[in-house]
Amino acid sequence: MAGDKAGDASQAKKQENTDVLNSTLSIVETALNKLGYPEEVFDLLKEPLRMLTVRIPVRMDDGKVKVFTGYRAQHNDAIGPTKGGIRFHPDVTETEVKALSIWMSLKAGIVDLPYGGAKGGIICDPREMSFRELEALSRGYVRAVSQIVGPTKDIPAPDVFTNSQIMAWMMDEYSKIDKLNNPGFITGKPIVLGGSHGRESATAKGVTIALNEAAKKKGIDIKGARVVIQGFGNAGSFLSKFLHDAGAKVVAISDAYGALHDPNGLDIDYLLDRRDSFGTVTKLFDKTITNKELFELDCDIIVPAAVQNQITRDNAHNIKASIIVEAANGPTTMEATKILTDRDVLIVPDVLASAGGVTVSYFEWVQNNQGFYWTEEEIDRRLHEIMINSFNNIYHMAKTRKIDMRLAAYMIGVRKMAEASRFRGWV
Ligand code: GLU
Repeated sequence: MAGDKAGDASQAKKQENTDVLNSTLSIVETALNKLGYPEEVFDLLKEPLRMLTVRIPVRMDDGKVKVFTGYRAQHNDAIGPTKGGIRFHPDVTETEVKALSIWMSLKAGIVDLPYGGAKGGIICDPREMSFRELEALSRGYVRAVSQIVGPTKDIPAPDVFTNSQIMAWMMDEYSKIDKLNNPGFITGKPIVLGGSHGRESATAKGVTIALNEAAKKKGIDIKGARVVIQGFGNAGSFLSKFLHDAGAKVVAISDAYGALHDPNGLDIDYLLDRRDSFGTVTKLFDKTITNKELFELDCDIIVPAAVQNQITRDNAHNIKASIIVEAANGPTTMEATKILTDRDVLIVPDVLASAGGVTVSYFEWVQNNQGFYWTEEEIDRRLHEIMINSFNNIYHMAKTRKIDMRLAAYMIGVRKMAEASRFRGWV
């Protein structure tokens, strides 16, 4: 955190900063300074306003009870209710959930939604759980956090390893507690339960729109552009399809076990057909390369759509792409951002590139509130308008202030939240 920074300065010289919360906070602080806000605004925004830790007992299929730990962080609700996904993953930590809630505030600010950020997580491995166990865990989590969530308080959504079925169980559990059938409690639901068209592929659609804008700025034609995608989960898989259909050459994709490479372009339809529901596909092939080699391939555009800290000072110099579009959270370290920006590589930051998901979640919530549903074309049109405007606002700010797009995005992302907190008289 900010207070530790001076003491750690000498250490930081030796070791690269790969602590996502720490890096996020240092950029938030710089952004607020540049906007002229006093230190107390940073003091308010550096921690979530609320952080709930819960323990969820679940009777497993073998008859024994296992107790899971979960979190819900609500970063700042000055603008409106908080919003953000719930992830199910063995590596979930309290610090990560906190950092992710701040990211959600930034995303909501960047695409100008009437929300603050939140995030939830449960430490578990859904790949090793049965359908029944997952249902019990999902319902148990909602019971445990029900005091602080709700359609006008904090609206959850899918995230890593959670999907529309899990959202449906959670909505059902909340309707029982609340004694109301209010679909606006959660987004990312199945269409039949008030879900929105286009929500499932929304993050990838948003990444595609941002990537197209970035390509225009660099004079790269998407048709024939060579793209490398790290990760074949929700974002990576839809993205590979959108780019392939747009005529790009997806030359490499990867999952947690390795990467596939073909300089002439991979057969995306075949790979999508063979991937399992957790995005694993490379295990089926003998000839793979490593995730490390993936970043150094000859290509025009790289989309990291997996985990954090993938592009560091160790590999930034070897990257050949001229555009990096961050579909994952925090894939590029601060040092790597500097190295790449100095080399004129355009980095479209995570808080902008991955904002399509929460944007269509907002559309879902609006449709739930009004009880009137839009067509897929309508959703697509609105998403394009928001993503293109947000991209260009940030690009313009980066150019005029001579800063990188990440700092520009953070400045736009915190501005409204800081202003709303001031009007409310909090700072
Ligand atoms: N989990 C997604 C994200 O990180 C979506 C959140 C939402 O739809 O509210 O942006």
